[in-house]
Amino acid sequence: MYDDNNVFAKILRGEIPCKKIYEDDYALAFYDINPKAPIHALVITKGKYTCYTDFTGKASSEEINGYNKAILKTVEQLGLSEDNGFRLIFNNGKASGQEVPHLHAHILGGKVMPF
Ligand code: AMP
Repeated sequence: MYDDNNVFAKILRGEIPCKKIYEDDYALAFYDINPKAPIHALVITKGKYTCYTDFTGKASSEEINGYNKAILKTVEQLGLSEDNGFRLIFNNGKASGQEVPHLHAHILGGKVMPF
């Protein structure tokens, strides 16, 4: 069940500030407050989805396509690419380490990241 009081819901409502990178009808991208790499961005859905499986199971094809395109636009805006490399991570559920129950992709880059 989606919790309207999670921190990313508050960011979407403008109740908490963020360092915005990109925004469109489907997604909002901003810098992670506690970066784990030289570049660490988060891309969240505009829709109320708790995690990746919730989103891909319930969202329309338009939303899924729009969200993926927003991730790509964010990556481009950050100067990341297949050439310099970046990591895309979805934590899915508490057991995976997901702390904020609103779907978000982590984009990590700016350094060489051995597995
Ligand atoms: P996860 O563990 O996958 O749920 O990741 C949540 C991420 O949200 C963590 O990397 C946090 O540093 C980040 N975070 C939490 N609060 C904020 C905030 N107000 N602005 C930006 N990033 C945040």
